[in-house]
Amino acid sequence: MCINLSDLIEIMPQIKILRVSESFTSNVYLIGQDAYLVIDTGLYAHNLIDAMKKSNISLESLQNIILTHSHVDHIGGLNELVEKTSADVSIHESEANYVEEGDKEATAAALFSLPLQGTPIARKLQDGDIIRFDEFVFEVLHTPGHTCGSICLYEKEARILFSGDTVFAHGSFGRTDLPPGGNSKDLVNSLERLAELNIDILAPGHMDVVNNGQSHIKKSYETAKIYL
Ligand SMILES: [Zn+2]
Ligand SMILES: [Zn+2]
Repeated sequence: MCINLSDLIEIMPQIKILRVSESFTSNVYLIGQDAYLVIDTGLYAHNLIDAMKKSNISLESLQNIILTHSHVDHIGGLNELVEKTSADVSIHESEANYVEEGDKEATAAALFSLPLQGTPIARKLQDGDIIRFDEFVFEVLHTPGHTCGSICLYEKEARILFSGDTVFAHGSFGRTDLPPGGNSKDLVNSLERLAELNIDILAPGHMDVVNNGQSHIKKSYETAKIYL
């Protein structure tokens, strides 16, 4: 899949990705047609705001933001986006406090000397929760390892997995040496669980979106078993 940086690119009907050239920021996914749901905001809100403008998508149409975890490269743009849109924010219950309090240690903002403001969380997620948006039904999978509250979002019908920093394409996976609660054993267990799922499109928090996602995740699991 070839992607132009800093534009919103459709990866399947009603699902777009924003990738920007700043290396540290996460991928951002925008889902919907009249109303929109965002998965991770990236480090800076202006990237998404500019891209939405370019695609004639109004800021008011952004209703929900789901965070795959609380690291600053995924949530740095959150506060500004929420102020400009009043979107509801969801994250796994075990990392909600870090976002609400703007905890610079847990979110790794301190590590990279980045500012961070607290943002209220509307919904604290648990494993097995269902998030319905438009025609999509996203199942929340709690996949600890990269952080204690990392989640993936699985859309069974569309066979797409939004995997945050738990698993990347080409047999790669998230690091386990960062707060909050990075844990190698947990990550291997999470990858084992994900490798069982029927997935075509793997839509991770960084780098490439790929087809045949299940085979990519199996490779990640096999590699993680050896090295973690
Ligand atoms: Zn990340
Ligand atoms: Zn991360």
